[in-house]
This record gives sequence, structure tokens and C-alpha cells, in this order.
Amino acid sequence: MVAEGQSCPNLCLCGKRKTSTRPNENRYNTAMGKTTRIISIGTVKIGGGLPVVLQSMAAAKTADINAVAETCSRLADAGAGLVRVAADTAADAAALKEIRKKTTANLSADLQENYRLAETVAPFVDKIRYNPGHLHHAEPEIPWQTKVERIVNIARQYDCALRIGVNCGSLENADRNGSGIDSALNSAFQHAGFMDSLGFDRFCVSIKSSDPQAVLYANRRFASMRPDVPLHLGLTEAGLPPAGIRKSRLALEPLLAEGIGDTLRVSLTVPNQRKAEEIEAGQQILQNAAAGIVLTEKDWQPDKLNIISCPSCSRVENDRFVQLAEQVQSATEPLKEVPLTIAVMGCRVNGPGETDHADIGLWCGVNAVNLKRGSVLVGSFRYEEVVEKMLDEIAETVLPAARSKHVP
Ligand code: SF4
Repeated sequence: MVAEGQSCPNLCLCGKRKTSTRPNENRYNTAMGKTTRIISIGTVKIGGGLPVVLQSMAAAKTADINAVAETCSRLADAGAGLVRVAADTAADAAALKEIRKKTTANLSADLQENYRLAETVAPFVDKIRYNPGHLHHAEPEIPWQTKVERIVNIARQYDCALRIGVNCGSLENADRNGSGIDSALNSAFQHAGFMDSLGFDRFCVSIKSSDPQAVLYANRRFASMRPDVPLHLGLTEAGLPPAGIRKSRLALEPLLAEGIGDTLRVSLTVPNQRKAEEIEAGQQILQNAAAGIVLTEKDWQPDKLNIISCPSCSRVENDRFVQLAEQVQSATEPLKEVPLTIAVMGCRVNGPGETDHADIGLWCGVNAVNLKRGSVLVGSFRYEEVVEKMLDEIAETVLPAARSKHVP
């Protein structure tokens, strides 16, 4: 075990640092006397009323070691206390070992569909995020409890914190009614309770949805029932700036003002080179909360065009994803007063589930984009043609149905 204040003697192997080289400069403390426990993640600590730590995520392919390491360093320099990197494959895990050598940023590995990679990535990161809704993909015959116990044992062995990252777009029990927020909450409670039963307390929880009101509701409920557990705040698929920043403000500012939240990420649909905008947006939200400038539920305008889009990450199937989201936004500008939800997603991981709830959904494949109307697949179209197909679909089926619903 490496003592506080000393560097790991095996830096070349595990890369873990115990020096506090980058003090948290985001000076928003959520509440005096806050009861969330303090957990260490590399050189930062969250919880207990300490300053809220900002996070972001690399969107370059994890195997592109130099690009990811450069992104992690750039984000850390911009004020990120922690940077997440996706680990889907053995090649990604091998890349993380090299990335660790090239950056001093605190790193979190996102396991998504492959919990078995925990053991391979743990030596090179400070935190591991698992999604309860994705545990069933690998070794479906093994109970989730066995898988989580394995992740916990690995976290203990390699000095890592954990995040239970629940996402309404990928739920364990696939409750597709409404936003699924109650299923998400139940999942968070269940997994936090299981951590308790294992005697492991170095974890935080996130409960994310693309709906700010669902995020408000879930985090308030969780904080009231589990005031001991640090919360990672954020919306999933908030979308393109500036709308994505506004949606994030609607959920995060009231929560922070209520003393809820220990770390946060503003997820924005921007290219990898612009990811520091997520940190700038997070800093603005912290400053607003500190100054008492808080958007409230009254400021939400649900009956208008709502474009939700993911922030993209290493799993994005085609680099044209962000451009596609921007094209969707500009092509639908004339519809901005129409009550219509369009979801644009970068890959198969969350794409199929997250588009089910939208009036129109687009999720990216390698060479084609899947276009959906609600949960129904309309077809797969080339990147060059899918926006036109989407507009046709809106004109022919979605708008007439919406208008008929609004006839008095
Ligand atoms: S939908 Fe896919 S590409 Fe987009 S952020 Fe989620 S995992 Fe990454």
C-alpha cells in the first residue's frame, strides 16, 4: 500500500499516484454538515461537503492511446478532477495501461457491457464505473450479485473506488413504462444495499436520465433515503450546447442548492477536441449555485421540440455522429415550437433503448443510421440520406398523429 503523500514506487507498472498534485479548484461546497461519507479517488476526495468535483469523459477511441492521454491531460488542466475512459475490449484495457503512463489525470474506467474487464483495468485507474443494467450481457448465467462481488474484490485489491452508474436508457429489468425512473431508483437502492452487505463503502451512485425532472426526482429520493452515499450528478444525453447546458442546469442547480451532489458531469454532444466545454459548463453551474442563481422547474418548457443526444465516447460507431446531431438540430429548426422529442445516439450500447421513448430516434451503426418511430424501426439509411428520411417520417406520420392528439 502506498502512503499518502508518496508516489507509487511502481509508477511504471500501476501508475497510481498518492500525491495531491491537482487540488480541487472548483470551490462549491454543497452543504455544511453534509452527511455523505468521504471517498478517495486518486488524488481527489468527494463527499462530506468537500468541494464538488467536476468530471468529463474522453470521446476518442480508447485504443488511440495518444489521443486519449492528451484528452485526459487537457481535461485535467481545464479543471476535471476525474476523467472517464471506456473499456469495452481487451485491447482497450491494454491501451489503458499505456494511457496511465502518459497522463497524471485521475482516471475512471467505464466497463459498460463487459464486467470481466474490471480485473485488467483496475491496476491502471482510480475508479471503476459499472452499469447495473449491463451486467447481464457477459456470462448471463451468473447472478449479478456474484459479478458485483467480483468487481468489489478487485476494487479492494487495486485501491479503486466504484460508481454504481444507473442509466434510464439501459435498465436491469428493462421497465420501459414511462421514463423508467422508479426502476432506476430501485436498481440504485438494490446495488447500494448489496455493497453494504459486502462491507464495501468506497462507492458513489449516479441515477441518470435525459429528463431533468426525472433526475431531480431520483436524486432527491435517493439522497433522502441514503444520505450516507456520495452522489454523482448528471443528465444522460443532455444534447448539443446551448440546449444541453440549459437542461443540465435545470436539474443540477436545484440539487446543488439543496445540498445534493458531490461530483458532477455535464454531458454535451461535442467532438473530443471540445470536451473541455463540459468542464466550463460545470464550473458555470457551480458558480451559479454558489451565487444563488438557480433555474427551477418553472423554467422547463416540455411542450416544445426536445432533441436529446449522447455525448459520444470511445464506442461511437462513426465519427460523423456529432455532425449528424448538428444536422438534425438545424433541419428541425422550423419545428422548434412543435412538441416533438428526437433522440440521436452514437452506438448500439444505449442507442436502441434510449430511442424507444422518443417520437423519432436515430442511432448510429458503422455505415448506416437506424431510424425509428417510437420503438418501431423505420429502416437503416446512409449517413448522407438519413436526415431527409427523418424529415419525411416526421411530416408523414409523427406530425399528423401529434396534431390529432391536440384537436380540441
Ligand atoms: S450512446 Fe454509445 S456512443 Fe453515445 S455515449 Fe453512450 S455508449 Fe457512448
